[in-house]
Amino acid sequence: MSQIVIAKFGGTSVANSAAMNNSADVVLSNPDVKVVVLSASAGVTNLLVALAEGCNPDVRQEKIEQIRQIQYQILNTLPDSQVVRDEIDRLLENITTLSEAASLATSLALTDELVSHGELMSTLLFVELLRSRKVNAEWFDVRSVMKTSDRFGKAEPEVQTLSSLCQQHLQPRLADTLVITQGFIGSESKGRTTTLGRGGSDYTAALLGEALNAKRVDIWTDVPGIYTTDPRVVPNAKRIDEIGFEEAAEMATFGAKILHPATLIPAVRRSIPVFVGSSKEPTAGGTLVCNKTSQPPLFRALALRRKQTLLTLHSLNMLHARGFLAEIFNILASHNISVDLITTSEVSIALTLDTAGSSTNGSSLLTSALLTELSALCRVEVEEDLALVALIGNELAKARGVGKEVFGVLEPFNIRMISYGASSHNLCLLVPGDDAEHVVKTLHHNLFE
Ligand code: ASP
Ligand code: MG
Repeated sequence: MSQIVIAKFGGTSVANSAAMNNSADVVLSNPDVKVVVLSASAGVTNLLVALAEGCNPDVRQEKIEQIRQIQYQILNTLPDSQVVRDEIDRLLENITTLSEAASLATSLALTDELVSHGELMSTLLFVELLRSRKVNAEWFDVRSVMKTSDRFGKAEPEVQTLSSLCQQHLQPRLADTLVITQGFIGSESKGRTTTLGRGGSDYTAALLGEALNAKRVDIWTDVPGIYTTDPRVVPNAKRIDEIGFEEAAEMATFGAKILHPATLIPAVRRSIPVFVGSSKEPTAGGTLVCNKTSQPPLFRALALRRKQTLLTLHSLNMLHARGFLAEIFNILASHNISVDLITTSEVSIALTLDTAGSSTNGSSLLTSALLTELSALCRVEVEEDLALVALIGNELAKARGVGKEVFGVLEPFNIRMISYGASSHNLCLLVPGDDAEHVVKTLHHNLFE
């Protein structure tokens, strides 16, 4: 293992000049940080996504102007910035051309090309800011090493290729310069730009950490670590100082917005600890996600995922039948839908649709083509506006009394579905959307306060 630390800064940490300067302080305070991975400045990706969906000329102008202002506000605080100014202007030109194309015909490839400009701009500005502070920093186009599939919008990284390209092109630079590069973006075999899915910069940082055999990956965001639940829902939520990989992965998957769900996959493969902290308060500490934590507690945290859609499939043919589930899953797979929670009874199956990492909600995954195909096999019922509450912990499936502790306090609520036993790290409940926060507050009070 090398001594390298990868530091990733999210959109709010590069949102404006003050935030970028805080982030630069964080980078410079640790000489082991050799690679910096950045998101787009806060708000820019959303604007670019809107442009990629196609807008009328007025709206288009307005959105491009908003992007220009976000980046110029930073640019204008930098001394002698003519070269970067030209470069930012060139990228803004590109954005204009690509947005015009998008208003004629949209495509996923075009969207990726467009949204990649957010990260390209933030990294250019950050390099210039570091140079103005006399730091030897170098801009690096991550697309030259981050090779991916051509599944635009949610491309899969080619880990082996990434690793050898990093050893060839990135590693040698780290001896005498600080490398600043883009999160979220990559390129497919023909060289076209791809993206790893919304929030994918965390994933980039972990993938580079794996490829460069880093000793740690630091994720700097706007909250000082991972909490027992979202502090906006439960002000009494407590920061977790150390958490195991599996627990943190479950939290990310089940809706805690703190890390992109795939981030921990490369970290786990190489056992690289991931630190999460706030670039605004770097000394406030944070959470270390690692292989082994001392005395993992039975109950660790609560995650909440809203806007869940439940499908119930009834079929009398299912009685003593074989292959019914397989048929259902084939149909779902052919529509690119992955299933999240599932329970079965003799003649019916209930399942929720996995929307993690996609920008669509459950109901928009439910196309009429899918419903028609399913309806040919069974009676389909759809319930929307549910919420998934996940209780994360350790050895849950082996412990005694979990049921009483959890359900004892949930008497006032309707619990639509329960999933428990497949993983010893979680117990999931589906509840009506309107009750979700109340359920989380009640459980948090009983289990964590
Ligand atoms: N800028 C991208 C997004 O907003 C990637 C990221 O922030 O991680 O989704
Ligand atoms: Mg982000």
